[in-house]
Amino acid sequence: MSLKLVILGDACVGKSCLINKFTTQQFREFEEPTIGAAFQAVRVSDAYLTLEVWDTAGQERFRSLAPMYYRDARVALICYDITNKKSFESAKYWYKQIEENGNKDCIKIIVATKADLVDQREVEEVERYIKIANVSYFMETSAKTGKNINKLFNLAAREGSVVYRRGESSGNRRSRKKGGRLCNNWERLGKEAEEEKIFGNNCC
Ligand code: GDP
Ligand code: MG
Repeated sequence: MSLKLVILGDACVGKSCLINKFTTQQFREFEEPTIGAAFQAVRVSDAYLTLEVWDTAGQERFRSLAPMYYRDARVALICYDITNKKSFESAKYWYKQIEENGNKDCIKIIVATKADLVDQREVEEVERYIKIANVSYFMETSAKTGKNINKLFNLAAREGSVVYRRGESSGNRRSRKKGGRLCNNWERLGKEAEEEKIFGNNCC
């Protein structure tokens, strides 16, 4: 199974660094965006799924990211930089965009970046926003120190796959068709790993 994950947020909040820290375990100060998607296996329960991780190529500067980029995403990481208040306002904007134009089951995670720069923190009012906007997932990260990076992507994979399975068992025609196709990509952990255990009987 593979899940599409997109990353959103202002330019320079650290999106490319976050993704590259996860996929290569390295932090490089000047990070190029990934062209196309990066594929990364993540272990969930007793099997692996593939995260299809999409980075932007700078279109966020003009807020012109086409809904096409995120419409079919199962998970959206909506990032702001803790040292930049404006980027937090933009994160609220992107959150709403996904709510309105994204997949209705998309898992939306608000991601605070650059947590290592605590002494320059500008954004303090996150908790209030999370309550008001009914945000389900929030995580503070640092690509530089590695803080919460693996935890973030594990959460994304786990929650994304739960929603995927729920779509499968709801009998929704469209998602069942999609699921059948995606299940062919499921990477088994060993001969013993059975898809039925993970997806239920509707799988494939
Ligand atoms: P993007 O435009 O959102 O993709 O941002 P980049 O990933 O290119 O990062 C923008 C800048 O922030 C670069 O100078 C990075 O070195 C810096 N940066 C990214 N993540 C971190 C972090 O966790 N800590 C610190 N201190 N700097 C970071
Ligand atoms: Mg980038």
